[in-house]
Amino acid sequence: MKKIKPTLGWIAAEYSKLNEKLFDGKLGPCKFELSDIGSKKLTDKSDVLGFFGSAKDIFIDESTRKLYVVKILNGKETKCWLNARNFQKLFKPVIHINSNYSAPKSSWRAILVHEMCHYKTIFPGIWPIRHHGKNFHEMAERIYKKSRGRIKVEDTIKARTLGFELDYKIRKTRKKFADKKKSKLKAVFLVRDWGKTELTMTSSDKLVKAIFDLHSVFREKANGDFRGLCSELAVSTDPKIIEKLYSRGYCTDFKVYKYWTLPDDLKNIFRRKSSIFLLEKPDKNKAG
Ligand SMILES: [Zn+2]
Repeated sequence: MKKIKPTLGWIAAEYSKLNEKLFDGKLGPCKFELSDIGSKKLTDKSDVLGFFGSAKDIFIDESTRKLYVVKILNGKETKCWLNARNFQKLFKPVIHINSNYSAPKSSWRAILVHEMCHYKTIFPGIWPIRHHGKNFHEMAERIYKKSRGRIKVEDTIKARTLGFELDYKIRKTRKKFADKKKSKLKAVFLVRDWGKTELTMTSSDKLVKAIFDLHSVFREKANGDFRGLCSELAVSTDPKIIEKLYSRGYCTDFKVYKYWTLPDDLKNIFRRKSSIFLLEKPDKNKAG
């Protein structure tokens, strides 16, 4: 399917069509912006494809969730509550579209409908407790029925599944960054005595040493009783292993202790590779 970068004209035309078709033409005017979102970010973990925005000076009343702006009337600060008449003027609704992506028209429509649901949920001035909470889901349900099951509004739209393609230049920069990071990463595996294998990923030699030292101290204190501790410690810098773990999301470079429990299918990843070196394999027979 042909991928496009939407223009403001295209977005406005689609908005008005979708408004008629799905919202009975009841959604008010809206501004559109093609925004540079996430181009400076070096990882793609939280790439936003679009979002519904407002003016900056909007406040939420905590108990009622009602929206207001603060105005000076007769020299006094006064709360001015949003309502159906002043909403557009005060809230200044705007739908931002990430201009760094190309995607099929239908995918951009999915983003638009999602943001339009936010608009409809907030109008005329109540901020929901959760962004994708009860109100949003009710709206999604209405759209689903209205479109006779053709449009399913999801809480999050994943770039990959709908064919969103990030600009080559940004991808190249990110890949370079990821490759550099991966080349320094070490995977530390801890086999616990209760059968779990845990993992931490780090580029810090200091942290690897600290983990090793920590478990050595435990072993000494436990006087050779390894129960509840870790029976095996291994470190790998094998690019294939690092790549596999990295692509599965085990990639945050922690400066503090953080262990993931490895899922069963990855549990023995480090046993099959010869490039792993074991730091320690305590001799259990000596315990006691
Ligand atoms: Zn949303």
